Order: sequence, then structure tokens, then C-alpha cells
Amino acid sequence: MAYKTTYPYTDEVLHEFPNATDAQVEATLAKAHALYKKWRKEGLAKRQATLHKVADLLRADKDKYAEIMTKDMGKLFTEAQGEVELCADIADYYADKAEEFMKPTPLETQAGTAYYLKQATGVIMAVEPWNFPFYQIMRVFAPNFMVGNPMILKHASICPASAQAFDELVKEAGGEEGAFTNLFISYDKVSKIIADKRVSGVCLTGSERGGASVAEEAGKNLKKSSLELGGNDAFIILDDANWDQLAKTIFFARLYNTGQVCTSSKRFIVMADKYDEFVALVKDAFAKAKWGDPMDPATTLAPLSSKRAKKDVLAQIDLAVKNGAKVVYGNELIDHPGYFVMPTILTNITKDNPIYNQEIFGPVASIYKVDSEEEAIELANDSSYGLGGTVFSSDPEHAARVAAQIETGMSFINSGWTSLPELPFGGIKNSGYGRELSPLGFNAFVNEHLVFTP
Ligand code: NAP
Repeated sequence: MAYKTTYPYTDEVLHEFPNATDAQVEATLAKAHALYKKWRKEGLAKRQATLHKVADLLRADKDKYAEIMTKDMGKLFTEAQGEVELCADIADYYADKAEEFMKPTPLETQAGTAYYLKQATGVIMAVEPWNFPFYQIMRVFAPNFMVGNPMILKHASICPASAQAFDELVKEAGGEEGAFTNLFISYDKVSKIIADKRVSGVCLTGSERGGASVAEEAGKNLKKSSLELGGNDAFIILDDANWDQLAKTIFFARLYNTGQVCTSSKRFIVMADKYDEFVALVKDAFAKAKWGDPMDPATTLAPLSSKRAKKDVLAQIDLAVKNGAKVVYGNELIDHPGYFVMPTILTNITKDNPIYNQEIFGPVASIYKVDSEEEAIELANDSSYGLGGTVFSSDPEHAARVAAQIETGMSFINSGWTSLPELPFGGIKNSGYGRELSPLGFNAFVNEHLVFTP
């Protein structure tokens, strides 16, 4: 069975789930489509109450949901609790804002009157990754539920218990049959669902390979798609950076969720005269990582999400070193059945090193030395990715000027990455297209329907 929970701390298989049958897929599509048609005739009040109820249940049963996520993919229980709270906030945000976001928008026109309505488009297929097992779902579910687009989920095969728990949560909150359905399905069935005429769009958060494949299927079938893919975010330390604040930021920026965050800081870029001092600062931050049982609140470094993830990260460190990079901290084996990788710092990465343009999805920081601000900006932009990025400076205007020159979807000043319901999330280049969260995410699968009277 492809869908199973293997607890990354103990390497034990905890749950296995059978794949959905063709008949289950067809029943899901039929129910979701029927609900879309029903919702077109209804107001928002009932869905608003259901979504607030989802938020209430999340807060009431926070620990239950957090533990499911920890067991699925190994994240720290304390971080999983934070994720549940963020999901509740996203649900409340869209429940509260939907009426305002759905209002017809008047247009200035040279003749007559014009406005556009915001309307649902149909069933949305969402393909989601394991790194934030609830948050990734909520970013798509909450806005589309309020818009009136039922959602079908194909979650990552390593976090099926989270997928099932989210499905049960929506039903417990009063979500009608078809509003949200988790399906344990193969890639093949995802393609068939995308091609189905009852489905109006597809979104994927995950790798470039997964994204390209789903987008190809969407393109062939003329369906709208939205992709949130990988990142290799630059963290630029300008010469006027506040070092106390920097010291407080590094751990979170790189090691939160054991570095398995698409928009965590991966390439640190520092001026040559501050380079040694900065390497020492990152070493100090990484030395504080305490690996161990993710359920224990004293642990600060969880295992990686799977045996494969660990193998891949270690192979990337090897590849970097074979091509001339230096390990200045970490990369020692941790003798434990859990999928731990020690926080590691790589330096001396040259442009011809294959790792230069690879995302390392784990606790590995690459540090680059530059001679000027211009060189820092050039290096930050010399990437096939463009998801997020950080600029550190004690002068906010200076930081903002530099941030505006970075080819990316999100810039964070004097902080690591962040995600809030009201802030748009997404990237450019190979990091994907489209935005989730905020009013922009609400509009992702909306029909902006013009009504013109001459
Ligand atoms: P992945 O292999 O692409 O998996 C993500 C999801 O896509 C999983 O549900 C996976 O299913 C599915 N999938 C992959 N190929 C598919 C295909 N051809 N057809 C249908 N479904 C397919 O990604 P990953 O390596 O696990 O996740 C880490 C990546 O996600 C990193 O690059 C990270 O940066 C990125 N990410 C981006 C964001 C963002 O918001 N931009 C957020 C988080 C993560 P299976 O599990 O069954 O293979």
C-alpha cells in the first residue's frame, strides 16, 4: 500500500491505508460537482458558520491534530501545535472576509455601467506535500470553500493520517458531503481527475517535477493551475545589519521544521569583512540544536520526514563536498533509528558546483562571501528559484531598496520567513506561479464575471 505513516523518530509503520477505487473516485466527483451546483444558489452564511466551526474544533483539539502530524512526518509537537493554531486563524480569516471579497466590483467605463461578479468555477483538485500536513491543505480549502469550489485532496503518501483527520474535521464541523474529500490515489488517477470536465482547476505544492507534471495535465485539458514549488531563498546580511537580531533569527530561519520549509533561508550571503564573524554566529546557533524525541518539548531538532529525505540530504552534502565545498560544521552521523541529520554548514560553494543551484530540503546552510551589495544582489538572483528571501539591515529603507531588487515572490526584512492568513504566499521562476492566502489566494479559482450594460 502506497499510503502509510512511518514514524520518523522510531522508523515504525503506524498506519497503512488502501488506495481509493475507481468507483470511489467517481462518487467523489459526482458529489462534489452536485454540491458546486447547489452552492451556486446559496448565500455564504452556512459555509461561514461551518468554517468558523472548523477553526473552533482545531483550537479545541489542538493536541490531537498536532500529534497526528508529528507521527506522520516527524515534526516537533510544539511546531505542530503552532501549525494547528495557524490553520484555525486561516479558517477564521476567510470566513470573516469572504463577504467583502465576494462583493461585485464596479468598473469605470467610457459607456454605460459595468461591474464584475466573483463566482465559483467548480471542483478544485489539490495535490499537497507533507512538510506542513494541515496548513498546506487549509491554504486551499478555506478560500475555496467560501468561494463555493468543492475540493478534492491528494496528499503526500507519507502523511495519510493527517489527510484523513482533515477530512473528518470538515465533516465534524458540518461540511456537506463533497465539500472536501481526501482520496488516497495514484498519480494516474490525479491526471484523470484533472481531465474530468467537472473539475475546473488544479493546484500543487511540491517539487518542480511534480508541478511540471500536474501543470502539463492541466494545460492539455485547458484547466487553470497554480503551483507553489521549491525555493533556494537568499538571506542577505547588509553591512549595517543588527547582529543581535541576526543571532536571534538564524535558528528559526534555517532550522525550523528541520529545514524542510520551501521558503526557509538556504543561502546566506555576507560581506567579506564580516564573513568569519558570521560563520561563527551560525555555528553558535546550530550548536544549540537538541535532537531527540519530537514529542518532547525540550527537543529543538526533529528527524527528517522520511528515510529517503535523509538519504537525499546526505547525498547532496556529499555532492557539494565532491565538487569543492567545505563542511565547516556538522555532517556527523547521529546513531539513532530516527531520520536525523545534524545541522550542517557548507562554504566555498563555487558557481560550477551542482549544489549552487539546488534546494537542500533539510538542516543545511550554505554561506557565501561577497565584496559588495551589488554582488550580493547578483548572487541572490543567480538562481532558477524565486520564492522568498530575507534582507537584514538596521536601516529599513536600505533593506527595502535591496529587497525590491531581488527576483522573488516574497521578501522578509530583518526576519526569517513568515506566513500569515492575510499575506500572499507564492513565487516566480521555477518556484511556481499563483498565490495562496490573502485576497490574492481567494481569487485563485474565481470567475471574474463581467456584467456590462451599455
Ligand atoms: P513532491 O514529490 O512533488 O510531492 C508533493 C505532492 O505531489 C505529493 O502529494 C506527491 O505525491 C505529489 N506528486 C508528485 N508528483 C506527482 C505527479 N506526477 N502527479 C501527481 N501528484 C504528484 O514534493 P516533495 O519533494 O515531497 O516536497 C518537497 C518540495 O515541495 C520541496 O521542493 C519544497 O520546497 C516544496 N514546497 C513548496 C512550498 C511552497 O509553498 N512553495 C511549500 C512546501 C513545500 P506522493 O507523496 O504520493 O509522491
